[in-house]
Amino acid sequence: MVQAECVVVGAGLFGLTVARELAEAGVRVVVVDKRDHLGGNAASAVEPATGIEVHRYGAHLFHTSDERVWAYANRFTAFTGYVHRVFTVHRGVVYPLPVNLGTINQFFGAAYSPDEAKALIASQAAELGGAEPVNFIEKGISLVGRPLYEAFFRDYTAKQWQTPAEELPASVVSRLPVRFTYDSRYFNDTHEGLPAGGYDAWFRALADHPRIDVRLGVDFFDASQPINKAACAGAVPVVYTGPIDRYFDYAEGVLGWRTIDLAQEIVPVADFQGTSVMNYADLDVPFTRILEFRHFHPERDYTKDATVIMREYSRVAGRDDEPYYPVATASDKAMLAAYQARAAAEDRVFFGGRLGQYRYLDMDVTIAAALDLVEGELAGLFAR
Ligand code: UDP
Repeated sequence: MVQAECVVVGAGLFGLTVARELAEAGVRVVVVDKRDHLGGNAASAVEPATGIEVHRYGAHLFHTSDERVWAYANRFTAFTGYVHRVFTVHRGVVYPLPVNLGTINQFFGAAYSPDEAKALIASQAAELGGAEPVNFIEKGISLVGRPLYEAFFRDYTAKQWQTPAEELPASVVSRLPVRFTYDSRYFNDTHEGLPAGGYDAWFRALADHPRIDVRLGVDFFDASQPINKAACAGAVPVVYTGPIDRYFDYAEGVLGWRTIDLAQEIVPVADFQGTSVMNYADLDVPFTRILEFRHFHPERDYTKDATVIMREYSRVAGRDDEPYYPVATASDKAMLAAYQARAAAEDRVFFGGRLGQYRYLDMDVTIAAALDLVEGELAGLFAR
């Protein structure tokens, strides 16, 4: 029998934030996660040979313009002043991303002013005839014109998504700003930084409450252990942050996800690439990018004897792979609607987070959604 007043499935940012808020409101919460660590895909670990903090599931950069979320996150960790910048290699030349005036002038070998560059891109985007862009290609061309789209977006996206760009939503490309200044910050948000003590310390602080009982290595779908779906659903409120299709035994079909194979390597040099993230825009390189973790924390006194890099290879996720990015084609969206209808009919089961909602959520949006759930639907349920 479950002793908790609420079961949270998944110890990622959504689950831990919900657990924390409920615990502070007096609710006893059990959090289960089938993995052996907190933080979901935002988890980090210290690479033992070098002492360098590695983001276990690829780079996670915290950035937000939501004051509530920024204040909330700062309750559990301090943030460094890290500002994310990305570069990309195209035909053997390195350019700054996101597309900015520096990228445009370097690419065209020009010295355009902001207005001249805007006029150039507008003339290139005119091929769309002024129609509202409906998919990834059209949105890309409308933002940067065809030459830059083909150089920096077309092939990278083919590697990243392996889905025809006509089928990808325009929102994927809208994640990246385009700037007609030399500002090369990757994000536009007011607040940005990395947890000063590391991601793991942040998640431990979030989970550290006498009314939160975290059980790692526990699979909610394993009926041989007590906190399982059959025992909990309908008996106790459940906040489920795993894949929504998995919860319903894939009854409506399997939602499309991308997974990433991460190849970590320790290289015996002080600095491998001079920056934290280098994208590879062209098809002749099989990976999408290389992360070099030491550059996320220039304030730390890391060894100069070696550095940790990680190459990212993107591919279609099978059922046993870690889902990372929802593909969200039209057929996925129809399937999702069917799952959402089933979810709405479940008794006191709440679906949240990237996997539970099948949405490409940033960390700050995830925290905001968790706070909203607690203040909204869950508040009524646990009102005393
Ligand atoms: N993208 C691209 N070229 C790049 C970087 C990004 O075409 O060099 C596209 C790609 O489709 C990617 C999307 O823009 O999926 C969003 O990029 P972001 O960096 O936000 O992706 P994430 O870091 O979440 O993988």
